Amino acid sequence: MTANEVAQAIQGRLVVSCQATEGEIFHDPQLMARFAAAAVAGGAAAIRANGPADIRAIRGVTRVPIIGIQKVRHRDGKPLITPSFESARALVEAGADMVALDCSVRGQESGALDRIREIQKRLNVPVLADVADITEAIAAVQAGADFVLSTLRGYTEETDHAQDFDPSFIQDLIRASSVPVIAEGRISSPEQARQAVATGALAVVVGTAITRPSDIARSFAAAIESEYSRRTKVSHAIGIDLGGTQTKYGVVRSDGALLFRSAVETPAKSGVCAVLDNLKRAAEIATRHVQDAGHDPVAVGVATAGWVDTRTGRVVYATGNLPGWTGTRIGEELSAISGLPVAVENDANALAVGEKQFGAAKSFEHFVCVTLGTGLGGGCYVGGALNRGAHSIANQVGHIPIMSDGLLCSCGAQGCLEPYVNASALIRYAGSSYTSAAQVIAAANVGNEGARDAIRTLGRHLARGCATVVALLDPQALIFGGGLTENNPLLISVLTDELAKLVRPWKNRELRVMPSALGYYGGVLGVAAVAFDLAFDSKHGREDYVQTVARLR
Ligand SMILES: [Zn+2]
Repeated sequence: MTANEVAQAIQGRLVVSCQATEGEIFHDPQLMARFAAAAVAGGAAAIRANGPADIRAIRGVTRVPIIGIQKVRHRDGKPLITPSFESARALVEAGADMVALDCSVRGQESGALDRIREIQKRLNVPVLADVADITEAIAAVQAGADFVLSTLRGYTEETDHAQDFDPSFIQDLIRASSVPVIAEGRISSPEQARQAVATGALAVVVGTAITRPSDIARSFAAAIESEYSRRTKVSHAIGIDLGGTQTKYGVVRSDGALLFRSAVETPAKSGVCAVLDNLKRAAEIATRHVQDAGHDPVAVGVATAGWVDTRTGRVVYATGNLPGWTGTRIGEELSAISGLPVAVENDANALAVGEKQFGAAKSFEHFVCVTLGTGLGGGCYVGGALNRGAHSIANQVGHIPIMSDGLLCSCGAQGCLEPYVNASALIRYAGSSYTSAAQVIAAANVGNEGARDAIRTLGRHLARGCATVVALLDPQALIFGGGLTENNPLLISVLTDELAKLVRPWKNRELRVMPSALGYYGGVLGVAAVAFDLAFDSKHGREDYVQTVARLR
């Protein structure tokens, strides 16, 4: 196509940018082709697409002109658009009718202006200049660009201040350029697209607002949550659940809604600093999420395995599951960077608070939560209050002795319950063909007898420890959370049967044995509930909070 033919094909029309970079849900050429087909069906006159694979797939479903780009990570770590002649050639060979280049100052430093003529001459296609300001546009036109696009406005260091669509910039570009100007960048509504045409732009490119469903959903979710929070005066806390394998975190609303959640690997073997940095990063990401919706979080909660001094937020003692963690001042460290009150709580205690506030234990005054994963933790309510013991180290269900001269435990003693019922025990019972507890559970769920036997063995050991707890505390319910109880109905049924044999009397007790109602993010919800307690205890008194939560339920 010549530049004139392109201009005729797209003038007064919509161009849709169909891109999904690595790691995004729709990162797949066939899916991008579907997006392009949908865009064309809706009236797009051309498609802008990234990379030869996407372009080839899109060419397979539509004849409309394609603007090809190749985003490449540059030496400075930031992406650069079509930074070499070879990348342009690959786009044209894949079916692009024209090529766009980064002609910002950064692009020019990597030879973009010389590349314009080279591409036109050797590949015989029109070249579009992506720019961020007027000077860059003038330089690109002088170098021979056929079209100028406002794509990079707000994305370069010099224009970082311009974060919103600005029709007056399009107008300035048109005044300064002797070639047609195409509006692109942060155009998020039909009204803004109309304004772009009103300034005199030849065509309008829209991307995110049409082809990124997660971003579209996020904008709706944020608008709804923001207005709901304003109207009902609910507040937000950040919950971080530090496990031996994964760190889960999220934003929790005071009515128990989990608004945002994410999980990253815990760098347990890289040392205390790496684990702390991980927590700080999680707090920052979650805080930004709350602030984007127009609110501020009231507190941060961190759940961790081990013995925690909840008044100072310090880890008094941690087992070998988190090497070097003993003595870490989690509260101080996180409070210094977030400026918020930080509640630190043992992870099983946190789950118990979560189950009481938001989960399966709302109606119970006496219950015990057991978290089963890399290690084993316990949290319990006695008479409607969390039981901490004299030194905040009660409920160590994992260290109840069940064997004399038994296996070595992470605490250093022999014969504790934990090494008989944790994730590595389950893998050991199942045999060498499994590398994770989740694999064993999945195999059991599809009827593999070896895997089912492994779960039965674990259940029998766990029942012995739990029978001791029941004999001592007479709870209304035993609630199981953590990776090993996730999607594992067999374990709950084995436990119930075994406990019926061990607990005397069984009949009139009506003990409930159940999985956590809060699921994979139970620790996050639980420790956010602890954080709400801290924030409202210190600010408005606990009564207000209890009433707010009760009213919202
Ligand atoms: Zn132990």
